[in-house]
Amino acid sequence: MEKVKQLIDKLYKIRSLAIDEYKYLIENISEEAMSYAKEKAIKLREFYYGKEVFIRGLIEISNICKNDCYYCGIRKSNKLCSRYRLTKEDILECCKEGYALGFRTFVLQGGEDPYFDDRRLTDIIKEIKALYPECAVTLSLGERTKESYKALKQAGADRYLLRHETADSNHYSKLHPINLNLKNRVQCLIDLKALGFQTGCGFMVGSPFQTSETLAKDLKFIEEFKPDMCGIGPFIAHKDTPFASYENGSVKLTLYLLSLIRIIHPKVLLPATTALGTLNDNGRENGILSGANVIMPNLSPKEVRKKYMLYDNKKSDGDEAAESLEEIKKRIKKIGYTISVSRGDVRKDI
Ligand code: SAH
Repeated sequence: MEKVKQLIDKLYKIRSLAIDEYKYLIENISEEAMSYAKEKAIKLREFYYGKEVFIRGLIEISNICKNDCYYCGIRKSNKLCSRYRLTKEDILECCKEGYALGFRTFVLQGGEDPYFDDRRLTDIIKEIKALYPECAVTLSLGERTKESYKALKQAGADRYLLRHETADSNHYSKLHPINLNLKNRVQCLIDLKALGFQTGCGFMVGSPFQTSETLAKDLKFIEEFKPDMCGIGPFIAHKDTPFASYENGSVKLTLYLLSLIRIIHPKVLLPATTALGTLNDNGRENGILSGANVIMPNLSPKEVRKKYMLYDNKKSDGDEAAESLEEIKKRIKKIGYTISVSRGDVRKDI
């Protein structure tokens, strides 16, 4: 434990470790290591963001996808997935409901659905920004060309989430078909950042073939890329994918990594993800208590929620958005934090 403490202290001080040192921290996870990292993470989180938790209204605009990622329930080859796509009117209706509930960020997420070309997306983004100028629009729609990202930015989009999935190219190729590669994924992230998006990367914890070495590379990637947001959550098997029989990721390791990421990059916007809440009843609260500061409740229309099944048992319970927000508010209050109604941008002032 002495060495673990030393490494966490070093990380806290200089925000950087060698890959082998990250690997050591990961391989030597223990309750003690977790609470040591957590304590430091909480300190930094409170310095930059106090006890506020930012909320983002997640609108799952389409589960139609041209890609075939082996882990994902809405992959192209899953013939059992019943497909849908929201109309512009549906999306605006979600925003209207979300705005009334206090959301000031809308996240449009979906499969890589060619129907949502630049013309259609820019039209939707412009309309949202015209109706709700004080709100942020975040996109999470996969890999596109730099020109496309530029058009989306010019239309008013503020942020873009694109998890890098793994920073090891060999591991990347075990999670994705041959037409997808790490180099492209990272280029997209570089393009997004250069265009001025608040940019988010991230990965699944416990994805098949992940090792302490690949995870160490993920941490190094985050250290160097300095994303504005970072989404991590446990891998959860989906029964109709090639990874159906793989074990789910560990909640504990996810919590430990959340703390380490907060220490590496203190200002990062770090969500306690739905996947974490799916594997553990208090997953999202524990995420917040480990250093996360964002929660992304679902604002998608009730009818489609069960269809956006990235993994088995994804929390969707068909709750009304208002009900689930109330529930989240209660849970956050209980642990001594408060839900913020601001846009919740990344801090650039200090
Ligand atoms: N098409 C978009 C959005 C993907 S869904 C894109 O490519 O960015 C958002 C994230 O869900 C993915 O990046 C992936 O990390 C996560 N995800 C997909 N399948 C999952 C699974 N089985 N378990 C846990 N997380 C999963």
